[in-house]
Amino acid sequence: WQEISEGTTEKRVAMGRLQTRATEESLRNYVNGTWRDTNGSDGQAVVNPATGETITHVPFSDRDDIDAAVAQASEAFETWSATPVEERIQPLFRLKTLLEDHQEEIAETLVDEHGKTRGEAMGELRRGIENVEVACGIPSMMQDGTLENAAPNIDESAVRHPVGVYAAVTPFNFPGMIPLWFLPYAVATGNAFILKPSEQAPMTAELIFELIDEADFPDGVVQLLHGSVDTVNTILEHDGIEGVSFVGSTPVAKHVYETAAANGKRVQAQGGAKNHAIVTESADVEYAAEKIFSAACACSGERCLALDIAVVEDAVYDEFADAVVAQAEAATLGYGLDDETTIGPLISAEHEERVRGYMDDGEAEGAEVLYDGRDTAVEGYEDGNFLGPVVFGDVTVEMTIQREEIFGPVLGLIRASDFDEAVETVNSSRFGNAASLFTDSGYKANRFKSEVDAGNLGVNVGTVAPMAFFHFGGAKDSFFGDLHAQGEDAIKFYTDETVYIERWPDQ
Ligand code: NAD
Repeated sequence: WQEISEGTTEKRVAMGRLQTRATEESLRNYVNGTWRDTNGSDGQAVVNPATGETITHVPFSDRDDIDAAVAQASEAFETWSATPVEERIQPLFRLKTLLEDHQEEIAETLVDEHGKTRGEAMGELRRGIENVEVACGIPSMMQDGTLENAAPNIDESAVRHPVGVYAAVTPFNFPGMIPLWFLPYAVATGNAFILKPSEQAPMTAELIFELIDEADFPDGVVQLLHGSVDTVNTILEHDGIEGVSFVGSTPVAKHVYETAAANGKRVQAQGGAKNHAIVTESADVEYAAEKIFSAACACSGERCLALDIAVVEDAVYDEFADAVVAQAEAATLGYGLDDETTIGPLISAEHEERVRGYMDDGEAEGAEVLYDGRDTAVEGYEDGNFLGPVVFGDVTVEMTIQREEIFGPVLGLIRASDFDEAVETVNSSRFGNAASLFTDSGYKANRFKSEVDAGNLGVNVGTVAPMAFFHFGGAKDSFFGDLHAQGEDAIKFYTDETVYIERWPDQ
């Protein structure tokens, strides 16, 4: 400590504090600018999915913890909402710099609790930081319209106001990025904000909150509550919370949407996905195979944008199948901090079993196994949740692996006799998060953009993830609500709009 505080950067101070706590028995909440133990008695171990070792323990906040956090947030809101916008963005500028300075250490913790590779962790943090950058532009983005002489001698103007206390409930698969889809916009627009991160990967959020502490937000404006199902359900019904953002699986997204709305809150709930790629006969097949395999298996397939079904026009089907198998053969399963690793472990032993179950279903329902990585061993990590990629051929629309979200390193290939059939297959999905087309045909690209029903459509792009200045969200069973995360939608979600109608007659 002496050495840290005397000689070196604040970066080591922040990381030292977190690592001390993380190697102790339990994580803590961050409420009213201080770190607090929870009242709740429940909790669970946080396990490194590569080694099977327990890293720390995450407690579950109870009703008293939530009441205290909401009360502090409500009090902070009174002052924060009246603070000039230019002042409100200053802690965000500091947070951006702190996140960049600490990106590598955060990425290492993220790898240890989640399993993805270092590069993937660095990439997701970059996308998170991008949202902080965009939210720093709130003084311009929050402006609304004004019209002189809207009616005789009447001027009208619309103004956006902050609303109150918001909460976000986030999933395990992007523990660094997804909290930042919400937090920066909520506070920049003048609200108070409570994050409930995934109990499966809660340490990254603690690190980010170490930096939030250093960025000097006023006490109570940004708070962290650890917890699980009961914590979420208490949040959904809490009178002091005005709105909820949710990202997670479809059944829970639906439950969150219905419960929060029934309790009078505004809500945006992003759910699960099943994303298709179409490869047309004029596509660059090698390029498409590289992008699609990566989009299917990056982050071990644990991505809501995983393109895990490729619908391939007959003329290039065999060539594409050979090219994706070559990609699978070149993949290296391993611990995410080892440089050669391209695919890390799955989040938990239970999830590994679930994904293996889907792989078995694929075989039992008649798909052809083109590449089978199921038995790949990772030396030195025998207790990890490792599962190598599987590529299936001759998948049909009825098969379980085509209909359900797998969230593992699986790629299924469907033969399509023509483009019409390919589009029909994509649109038969109940999900609508993303789809991507690989082609050399502008005509097919235009048809794809107008005919395919999904929130994010890519053309010759593997991972169909919009930049932070565009909104991000799906359609059909992948999204419940109307205003999505990021961009202009975030500003609307976190503000109320009032219209002023003014006439000033000559007295
Ligand atoms: P999950 O639904 O199990 O959990 C998400 C959050 O909800 C967690 O914080 C958890 O504590 C809470 N939760 C879980 N069960 C609950 C219940 N019954 N009642 C109330 N709260 C509950 O999701 P996950 O496994 O952490 O994440 C993976 C899922 O998230 C996948 O389906 C993936 O597609 C989806 N996801 C979607 C997007 C998107 O933008 N659409 C992005 C990332 C992940």
